[in-house]
Amino acid sequence: MSGLPNYPILNAVMEGLPPDDLKAMQGQRLVNMVNYVYEGAPFWKKKFDEAGVKPKHIKGIDDLAKIPFCTKAELQADQDANPPFGSYACSRQSTWARLLSTSGTTGRPLRRVFSHRDWGYILDRFQRKPFMGPGEISIILGPVDGLMGPTAAMEAGARMGAIMVPAGLLDSKSKLRLIQEMKPVAISGTASYLLRLLEVAAEMGIDATTLGLRSVGSVGEPGGALEATRKRLEDGWNARIADGFGLTEIFPLGGNCPGNRDLHIAPDMAITEIVDPESGEQLPPGEAGEVVFSNIVGDTQPLLRFRSRDISKITAGEACPACGHTGPRLAGSIIGRVDDMIWFRGANIFPSAIEAAVRGIDALGHEFQIEISGKQALPEMTVRLESAGKVSPKAGEKLRRQAAAAIKDAIRVNANVELSAPGTLPRDDSGGKVRRVLDRRAKALGG
Ligand SMILES: [Zn+2]
Repeated sequence: MSGLPNYPILNAVMEGLPPDDLKAMQGQRLVNMVNYVYEGAPFWKKKFDEAGVKPKHIKGIDDLAKIPFCTKAELQADQDANPPFGSYACSRQSTWARLLSTSGTTGRPLRRVFSHRDWGYILDRFQRKPFMGPGEISIILGPVDGLMGPTAAMEAGARMGAIMVPAGLLDSKSKLRLIQEMKPVAISGTASYLLRLLEVAAEMGIDATTLGLRSVGSVGEPGGALEATRKRLEDGWNARIADGFGLTEIFPLGGNCPGNRDLHIAPDMAITEIVDPESGEQLPPGEAGEVVFSNIVGDTQPLLRFRSRDISKITAGEACPACGHTGPRLAGSIIGRVDDMIWFRGANIFPSAIEAAVRGIDALGHEFQIEISGKQALPEMTVRLESAGKVSPKAGEKLRRQAAAAIKDAIRVNANVELSAPGTLPRDDSGGKVRRVLDRRAKALGG
C-alpha cells in the first residue's frame, strides 16, 4: 500500500495562503487521499466502484462532487461488519497512538483510532496558535476519558507548557472550589454546563466575575456562538469566550479567533462544503445547509465527504479581518443539528432560535425546556422557563408574556410558555451535552 506524504502542519502559513494557492494545495492533498483510500480501504474502494468513479477521475477540488458522501450510519454498519475498527481503517495497528470514540449522542459510538502521525498533526495544529503559556493552569470541566476534543486539548495544552487539570469526576461545587483555589487562567466545558456552574457559584456565594479567568472555552454545543448565550457567559465569568470545534470522525478543526466569532476551519487538514441536506447539492457561500468535511491529511480512518449533520454556512468574501485566515469560516458557528431540527406545523425550527430568544431576556434564568406534544398533524409546543429571581404573580405574568412574544418573533409560530420559579426545571451536572427538546408526539400512523 502506498502511503501519504508527510505534510508540514506546524507551518502557520497554511492559515493565510492566497485563494489560488489554497485551492491547489487542497486539490493535491485530495488527489493523494483518493488514491490512498482506494488502495488501502475496502470501504472506500467499494463506494467508489459502486459510484462508477475511479481515482483518475479526481484531478482537483473541482471534482469533489464526484466523490460519494459517507454517513455515520454507514461507518457504524462497516464497524459492525468489520469489527472493531471498520474496513475504512487503512493503516497498520502498529502505527496507532490513540484509541478514542465518538460521544454517542446519536446512536452507538464509533471507534476512532489515530496513528502517531495523525495525532502529531492534531497537536501541531494547536501549536500554530498557542492558547496557553508555560505554567498557566487550565481546568477541563467535562469528561475527558475516551473523547477526542478534551483529550487533544489536554495534550496540546501540556505541550505548550501549561498545567492541564481534568476535573470531570468532581461535582459542581468541588469544581468551583478548585477554580477558587488553583486560580486557572482558563476553564472549558459545554455552554450549558458553564451557565449551570454560574448558578451553582451564585448559590455558594461566589462572585464568578472575580475569579480572574482570561478565557472560557465553549465546546461541543453551539451555545457559545449565540449572541445571548455568549453574553451571559462573558458577563457571568468576566472572560473571553473561546469556541472550539471539531468532529471526532474527522479531526479537531479549529475555532474562533480573538477578533472574530466565526469558526475558522484549518484548510490544510479538511475541505469544507455546505450542501442541501435533502438533495446533497453543493450550496454557495452565505447559504445555510449541512456541513460536509473531507479529511485530506489523516492516514488512519480518513473520511471523504462526511455528512456532519451540523447546519451552518460559510462566510462569503475575504480573509478574516481580524487574523487573516483565508480558509473557510463557518459564519456565526453552528446553527443547529439536522437531528435536532423540530418539524413543527410545516416549518423547521432549531432549538437554538428559542435559546437565543430566552437568553436575550435578563429577567429569565438560563434553563429552558421545549416539549412537543399532541398529534403529528397538529402538534403543540410548550416552552418551560424560569425567572432569574423571585417575582410577584403580576410581574411573572408580564415576564411570561414578554418571553412568549420574543419566542413568537424568533420562530414565527405560537408556543405555550410556562414560567416557573428559579430552580424548578431539571439540571444536568454531568458536564455533558444537554438535550432540551422532549418530543412526545404520538408516533402512530394517523396519530
Ligand atoms: Zn480570525
